[in-house]
Amino acid sequence: MIRPAIQSMTGYQPGEQPRRGKVIKLNTNENPYPPSPRVVEAIRQAAEAGLQKYPDPMAGAFRLRAAEVLADDLPQITPEWILCGNGSDDILTILTRTFVGEGDLLRYPKPSYVLYKTLADIQGAQVDVVDFQADWQLGERFTAATDRLRLAFVANPNSPSGTVLSVAEVAKLADSLPCPLVVDEAYVDFAEANCLSLVGENPSVIVTRTLSKSYALAGLRFGYCVAQPQVIEQLVKVKDSYNCDALSIAAATAAIDDQAWLKQNCEKVLATRARMADAFKDKGFVITDSQANFVWCTHESRDLKQLYEDLKSAGILVRYMSYDGWPEGIRVSVGTDDQVDACLAML
Ligand SMILES: *Cc1c(COP(=O)(O)O)cnc(C)c1O
Repeated sequence: MIRPAIQSMTGYQPGEQPRRGKVIKLNTNENPYPPSPRVVEAIRQAAEAGLQKYPDPMAGAFRLRAAEVLADDLPQITPEWILCGNGSDDILTILTRTFVGEGDLLRYPKPSYVLYKTLADIQGAQVDVVDFQADWQLGERFTAATDRLRLAFVANPNSPSGTVLSVAEVAKLADSLPCPLVVDEAYVDFAEANCLSLVGENPSVIVTRTLSKSYALAGLRFGYCVAQPQVIEQLVKVKDSYNCDALSIAAATAAIDDQAWLKQNCEKVLATRARMADAFKDKGFVITDSQANFVWCTHESRDLKQLYEDLKSAGILVRYMSYDGWPEGIRVSVGTDDQVDACLAML
């Protein structure tokens, strides 16, 4: 009695999360540094205040603080423009469930975040996968009006390439598409620009964010999206009533409140990223110009699956990825300088 759509799907395979042993973990783009100390203090206080009551279903404290922080990029924003989730994957699920029904079409680029396919599969929906051009831009094919097209995803910066579409380019995509466009900005704090302003101009643009990467809180599970209030109102009907717990709401609010920490952390990560890119090039890898906290490396002659295995045996975990029709590659997260040096020495 399992739905055929579920029985026939493979399911998302998260990157390896070793639970024991000493591993240099550069495979799932976590932040190598601890979060703002205010986060731990906020969790302690929330726990002491007691957990016997249900949390605020809308995570109001976070929405209030986030609206103030995000007003730099989107002056019209109020808490009503924000929906919080149990990680941004939860937000992506809510969006897919809201817009895409059985037999409908979900569009996204390739190579990109593999979860988008899983979300379509769960709905029993079809996917329309559009290859990036050689320069990691998207052509007109991405905005083609296709029967039953209900939603489009674009990760910007993209994973695994770390490349970006300009804000003007994303605006053009949103204007040309016959359906809403979700801009997945999981890595945007490491990039030069973001698309928040487009949400004010176009009700079809939805921006998703996460605290997992730039705020160093992947273990906490907190993400959010920004959209016009009439869109948020619909999304609220789809989410779990209490999709964010009291501890994560307190922690996420403290995290977004500490913008000085964020700025410092991003500066450290960007400095190491630049050094990594140069070092990988020196070793003969082909590198894309990354605006995220990882570097995508391909190689003209080396067997990268074997290289991934060899690094793993040496206690260094990177992400090996192979997309049909594309050269295989390894995606290496920006670690601490020591972690990166260990990886380079092994290479
Ligand atoms: C990591 C990542 C996410 C998910 O983030 P969570 O908030 O941890 O669920 C979403 N999109 C992309 C492209 C990512 O790389």
